[in-house]
Parts: sequence; structure tokens; C-alpha cells
Amino acid sequence: MIRVGLTGGIGSGKTIIGKMFGLLHIPVFSADNEAKMLLGTNSSVRSRLISIFGPDIYLPNQTIDRKKFASIIFNDQYLLKQVNEIVHPEVHRSFYKWSEKQKAPFVLYEAAILFESGHYRDMDYTILVVADEDTRLGRVVQRDSDTEEQIRQRMANQWTDEQKVKLANFIIQNNGRELIIPQVLEIIKTIKTDG
Ligand code: ATP
Repeated sequence: MIRVGLTGGIGSGKTIIGKMFGLLHIPVFSADNEAKMLLGTNSSVRSRLISIFGPDIYLPNQTIDRKKFASIIFNDQYLLKQVNEIVHPEVHRSFYKWSEKQKAPFVLYEAAILFESGHYRDMDYTILVVADEDTRLGRVVQRDSDTEEQIRQRMANQWTDEQKVKLANFIIQNNGRELIIPQVLEIIKTIKTDG
């Protein structure tokens, strides 16, 4: 199976663009959704998180206290790294199992952090969605209840587009000026032909 990473900074539009690939019959695995799921269901992830943050990081109903968790890890690079090191290998295992079962010319692995984590090396190709920082900020402010400051803090934990562009095989421009579908179709055609 050909595995293709799809990434982009906060608010770049990678999720919505992933959905477009999905409509064109390319299966999409969301690393972020899988990570959220594993935080609640995977016993090894759970016990390792409790050993770092204490039992109060889980609510009485056994789901993670998202508010508390986000406010801790997005304010501490070291803890964020530790959490990623616990969760990412499990997410990857799930992705590989899932991808083997798909019947398609290729599959997409959609992740907010792909280059930063080094997992781009496990992909056959990578796609980077780019948009100006102000456009991205405006979109996320509209979508979420987070403040501009919280969003900027999260942006600061990600690499800049300039760093990521150098490593990406394909770039999708999503500044609101270029049409998306033609860019998506071109990538599908190229991967089908080359892959
Ligand atoms: P995050 O990493 O924060 O989850 P993301 O890269 O997955 O962000 P999306 O959730 O796909 O980004 O898009 C962010 C918001 O911007 C969504 O509300 C989406 O509908 C909107 N959006 C994305 N692209 C465009 C566009 N070209 N025009 C208008 N709105 C857009």
C-alpha cells in the first residue's frame, strides 16, 4: 500500500482537504482523532500518562480531562514531547494495521505534526497544506472558542511553513485564492502514475 502523509499548520485546512480526498475515494486516517481515542481506550497509554500527570488527569468517567491536559501540555514543550513519544508509536501501529486493510491506489495519513515528529520518513509521499498565518488564525478563531493567544501558542509548537516546504513532495495552496479541487486531482493523478 502506498502511504501518503497529509499535514499543515493549525487552520491550514488539512482536515477539510482530507475530506476532499475522501470524497474522491482515497481513504483517510486521522492521526489526531486516533490519538484522542487512544488517550481514553489504550491501557498502556493511560497508565503512562497517569504516571506523569497523576490520576486527576482522567475524569471520574475515565475520559481524559481535555481542558486540564491541553493547558498543561501546550504550555510545556518538554511534557508535550513526552506525551507525543507515548502516543505517536501507538497511533502509528493503528495506522499500519488500518492501511493494510484498505483497497485503494493509496491511503492518506492526516496529522498536524508529521515533519516535526519525523514520521514523514515512513511515508511514500508527503502533502503539505499552506496558508498565511493570519488567514489560519482567523479561521481557527471562528471555528474554536480558543483565544488568539492560545492559538498563537500552539502555532509556536509547530514548524514554520518554510521549514516544512523543503521536505514536502506536494504543496496545496489554501489561501482562498487558488481552487483546491484541481490541486487535489493533480496530486492523485501523479501518485497513481508514479506510485
Ligand atoms: P487544525 O490543525 O487546527 O485542526 P486544520 O488544518 O485541520 O486545522 P481545518 O479544520 O480543515 O484545518 O480548517 C480550519 C477552518 O477553516 C475550518 O473551519 C474550515 O472549514 C475552514 N477553511 C479551511 N479552508 C478554507 C477555505 N479555503 N475557505 C474558507 N474556509 C476554510
